[in-house]
Amino acid sequence: MLPIERGLEIVLSTARTKDRPDWMPAESVPLVESISRILREDVLADADSPPFDKAIRDGFAVRFEDVEEVPATLSIVGESRAGSASDVQIRKGQCCEIMTGAPLPEGANAVVMVEHTERLSTTSVGIRKSVRENEGLLRRGAESRKGDRVLATGRRIGVADIGLLASCGKASVLVSRRPRVAIVATGDELVDVQQLPGPSQIRNSNTYTIHAQVREAGADPYEFGIARDNLEDLRAKIGHGLEFDILLVSGGVSMGKYDLVENVFADFGVEVLFDKIAMKPGKPTVFGHRGQTYVFGLPGNPLSTIVSFHMFVRPLILFLLKSENTNPKILEAKLEAPTKCDPQRASLLPALVRFEAGQYRIRTAPWKGSSDLVGLSRANALIVVPQREGSLEPGENVQFLPME
Ligand code: AMP
Ligand code: MG
Repeated sequence: MLPIERGLEIVLSTARTKDRPDWMPAESVPLVESISRILREDVLADADSPPFDKAIRDGFAVRFEDVEEVPATLSIVGESRAGSASDVQIRKGQCCEIMTGAPLPEGANAVVMVEHTERLSTTSVGIRKSVRENEGLLRRGAESRKGDRVLATGRRIGVADIGLLASCGKASVLVSRRPRVAIVATGDELVDVQQLPGPSQIRNSNTYTIHAQVREAGADPYEFGIARDNLEDLRAKIGHGLEFDILLVSGGVSMGKYDLVENVFADFGVEVLFDKIAMKPGKPTVFGHRGQTYVFGLPGNPLSTIVSFHMFVRPLILFLLKSENTNPKILEAKLEAPTKCDPQRASLLPALVRFEAGQYRIRTAPWKGSSDLVGLSRANALIVVPQREGSLEPGENVQFLPME
């Protein structure tokens, strides 16, 4: 059985080492549509920022030398407001009324906040507090210079980036096209979410967890519903799914008599690169490709599907999006209670993690096995228990996947 890291290497190297890497093509989208997308261009500042020496306080633009001793009285020779500069020249003993965002007049080198002044008349003001040179203002180009690279390709666009893109004049933005992901659930026992399960039936939940994970990773989910455990139905849905960028089939990949998914992959000429991972849950994870389509058989148990997606599918989606970071999200915490290891495979166990006294602390959460969505939903992390003899002891550092 392959260790998790080796499986992940195979997935990523399949996408990387074909004649050309299978990155999604780039597309141009309107600015606000680019939120959470992966940027596919370097963005350069088209001007200095700020574009002029600017006040960052409401108050009076002064020469700091004139207010070294306070209180001081200065004469007001003009007003500079946001959107219209004053052309006054500040000389010894003079100042200019100024608002936040307004250009600093010639000769001034600091801004005194209005709270530290006292208006004496229309033409004079008392200054009650000294300022240092350049206090209360931002010099031209202090944030970035024209031509600076302010955003690099591969970045996931966040809220601050949207503001930065707007301030650089980017009404439209080049981002990766989202991979299209087909989702097929399999199982004779499944009914859909609107239906009441009969005896020996359960509701299909994997379609929805996978859908949510696909979205979160930045791809477009397409639901194909439930394929029954027979060749005809599986062929119809899998055949259609192979026209997508990624095909995810849940269930039907273990050793049962009606686990037919791998046979159908073979019928369609899918080249399978692994079908077992030394991981608990998630052992029968299948990965292969046919041409440019990546294919996964995800084990049917709800937690297995979630874990396999997180470990293998999400990194692939991030790679195809040309994201700068394709690693599964893994953090470290201090273990609080002993936890048994499995010498055969690494385990991922639902756990409770909290941040206390400067570090994450973690312990396993109660749950009843891979199908227990109640236990899983009460947990907020998965501890990664390494494959080895013995146990992990309290106080040891362990890895975990955050789940919220
Ligand atoms: P399988 O991998 O098909 O043998 O399924 C393993 C277990 O996961 C069985 O108990 C199935 O009933 C359950 N299971 C399979 N598919 C789903 C699904 N889409 N939603 C919820 N449970 C499922
Ligand atoms: Mg099944």
